[in-house]
Amino acid sequence: MSLIEQLKNRKILDLLQKANQITLKEHGNKITLERAIFLSWWCDKGDCSFCYMSSQKPLIRDPKKARRRVESILAEAEMVRRMGWNIEFLSGGYGAFTTSEIKQIARDIYEITDDPVWLNVGITSELGAYGEEVVGVTGAVEVANPQLHRKICPSKPLEDINSMLTEAGDLGFKKAITIIIGLGETPEDLQYLFQMIEELEIDRIIFYSLNPHPDTPYADTPQPASLYYAGTVAATRIQFPKLEIITGTWVDNLANIGPLILAGANGITKFPLFKMFGTRYGRRVEEEVQWTGRELVGTFTDLDCLEGESPKSGLEPFLKRYITSCLNNKTDYKV
Ligand code: SF4
Repeated sequence: MSLIEQLKNRKILDLLQKANQITLKEHGNKITLERAIFLSWWCDKGDCSFCYMSSQKPLIRDPKKARRRVESILAEAEMVRRMGWNIEFLSGGYGAFTTSEIKQIARDIYEITDDPVWLNVGITSELGAYGEEVVGVTGAVEVANPQLHRKICPSKPLEDINSMLTEAGDLGFKKAITIIIGLGETPEDLQYLFQMIEELEIDRIIFYSLNPHPDTPYADTPQPASLYYAGTVAATRIQFPKLEIITGTWVDNLANIGPLILAGANGITKFPLFKMFGTRYGRRVEEEVQWTGRELVGTFTDLDCLEGESPKSGLEPFLKRYITSCLNNKTDYKV
């Protein structure tokens, strides 16, 4: 039976068991915590039907005003380093920051963390400007079925994402895609995803599950079932044993984490980090990982890691704000 057939026939336990074996063999038992760092709250497309930004665009007249302070971005990178997390990618910013500004931020972050960053800054033809501060480029595919894609993301054609990723590969960057589960795709649509991963030689995939935002057509759509999400990830892991897989779980779905790790996730993401750090929700994430028998890299609870020397002048007030937020949320955070 093909993997798609197994998923359709709900052979989820079989898929998980096989995927888990493959993951342990190919990747070992470490699980990373991943944090996407946003550069701005603006998107020059702003019309993907599921997206929070699409509900904000009419409210923001000047994209420059939606830029984050660079000090705040760098302080966030330093906090992520202190906690032992990875930076999933630098996100957004397109239309709000120029390519040379994004490059400078990436360089500064590379200096802070010692790790070159992944980019997820929209479709761009200016990848040639980036150098050693960038390890890879992410195409925000979201949905791999071309027909659905045209409907859901009308302003970022798959052809353009594919060309960008092909160019990224030619320039020596790694390649990643993002996929959202629950936008109306079916198990059969995995054929499009598998084809894309194979043809573009994708190194890394980030799965998210639909997070229905008010003021979007998905406001009343349920999030995808946990076993469907895990089964989809497991089928992808079995098909592509060496692929790096990151899976996103919002705070109201923490019980997904265990199954997603057994399904083949190498890292987990999509948490409101500074609200959850040190709370019982952070501890829950750690325990979800523990119960899979994996070892978590970094911490979601160790308050001792928060203090440290500022890596650059002018960041102290911003670092302090994040630290205070973590300490204050210690007992208060509620979903
Ligand atoms: S391009 Fe990205 S940020 Fe912009 S509307 Fe689409 S999903 Fe949202």
